[in-house]
Amino acid sequence: MAVRFVIIGGGPAGNTAATVAASLGAHVTLVERDLIGGAAHLRDCIPSKAMVATGNELTELGRARGMGLEAHGSLDVHALRVRIASIERQLCDDLTGLLESQGVRLIRGTGRLAGPHTVVATTDAGDEEIEADAILLATGSRPRIPGWAALDGERVLDTRSAYPPPEIPEHLVVIGSGVTGVEFTHMFSALGSQVTLIVSRQQVLPYKDPEVAAVLEEEFLRRGVKLLKGARAIGVDRDGDKVVVSCDDGRRAEGSHAVFAIGFVPNSEGLGCEAAGVHVDERGFVPGNRHCQTNVPHIYSAGDLSGRLPLSSVAAMQGRKIAEHVMGLTAREHRHLDYDKAASAIFTDPEIADVGVAEAEAFAAGRKLRVTKVPFSANPKALINGDTRGFVKILSDPATGVVLGGSIVGRNAAELISVIAVAVTNNLKVTDIVDSLLVHPALAESLAEAAY
Ligand SMILES: Cc1cc2nc3c(=O)[nH]c(=O)nc-3n(C[C@H](O)[C@H](O)[C@H](O)COP(=O)(O)OP(=O)(O)OC[C@H]3O[C@@H](n4cnc5c(N)ncnc54)[C@H](O)[C@@H]3O)c2cc1C
Repeated sequence: MAVRFVIIGGGPAGNTAATVAASLGAHVTLVERDLIGGAAHLRDCIPSKAMVATGNELTELGRARGMGLEAHGSLDVHALRVRIASIERQLCDDLTGLLESQGVRLIRGTGRLAGPHTVVATTDAGDEEIEADAILLATGSRPRIPGWAALDGERVLDTRSAYPPPEIPEHLVVIGSGVTGVEFTHMFSALGSQVTLIVSRQQVLPYKDPEVAAVLEEEFLRRGVKLLKGARAIGVDRDGDKVVVSCDDGRRAEGSHAVFAIGFVPNSEGLGCEAAGVHVDERGFVPGNRHCQTNVPHIYSAGDLSGRLPLSSVAAMQGRKIAEHVMGLTAREHRHLDYDKAASAIFTDPEIADVGVAEAEAFAAGRKLRVTKVPFSANPKALINGDTRGFVKILSDPATGVVLGGSIVGRNAAELISVIAVAVTNNLKVTDIVDSLLVHPALAESLAEAAY
């Protein structure tokens, strides 16, 4: 009899696991309370990147004069909203169609564990009990909001209610300067908002390479973004059309809107973990081992719920590995997920991307590193593009030449980092990059130069 695999949550973790398991012959049921695609497609990655894309186009129009063009642009917020909705719909429809064509049973409802081998799906038609040989919990997360903040969905917002906006805020106060906070700062300033960014430390992106953060801070300042450094927000009040954010050092940031971008909390309540004996940690995550198995071996956890790197790409890869494990494919060549080798990007302008070992951490740990850095200012394609900002940095082992990591700041950094990511994942050497015959003129030539 086919393996009965039940998945709760249809985001990147859940829908990837469903597709892979179905293609391997499992009988898959996927319970999703909203649309297939998850928060990733409907609320986070896709809409935010669509907003960024429009902001970048507007910025490009501003640069057009330097390319010998006369061009002017103005934003049509309604058209932007329609565009985002149509991208989301297309992605959700495509995924739903794929799953249905593979014979995955889709249940529109809320899932919970009712026992170690039983999932209950609550739908408009009532409760349905589904028996399972293996279960995946992939219910994702939601924005973290401090207890003192009263969101009103109008001017005091979380990241999910801030877009697509009915109008572009005149002055947005962004609370939090991690990846999401800087992306919001970038997208709204590119679309014409004045932005104040509250930075609780002395550097935006506190966990990133200081050289990388410095390029972004410089760009923000050039655009007129106000950085309130060393300030922690402790209150937010509405005063008519104004929003006032108070900080712990007595400073106040005033704007027309405020958005919280201070992290996320996992969706583990109401999931019935206790009914199946699944361990939930003190922060609400459902941790797993290297196969993403919880303490109950046939119940897996993936994506933001698992407390690992909160990235769509990681969630999808976990989903794939889990499906292979459920279907017993681990006996053959099966690589475990190495979270330390996950590439990630920040969609600002310039883009920022990195992978592998972080320079500051490696030096702090006394690890020997060869660090080579090449600015894009010497790259012919960057000159042609009229955008020479940023650099490529490659970190390698001085004894073996094995590529250990890298950072890229600049145009298309999110695409270019893939080359270094492949090298890091496969233990390639710097010479493997140097000896590759690359396209000319191309930004990727700076990778070969940095590897040399
Ligand atoms: C603003 C923002 C931008 C981001 N941009 C990027 C990016 O550019 N690249 C990137 O890699 N990552 C990005 N991320 C992170 C990414 O969105 C998450 O890591 C990813 O969505 C996690 O996938 P998931 O499958 O765990 O959960 P989700 O995508 O959150 O999906 C979980 C699904 O489970 C459903 N669900 C929850 N509970 C139940 C239940 N009890 N029963 C049935 N269904 C349920 C939900 O409706 C949802 O559809 C971004 C995050 C934010 C906040």
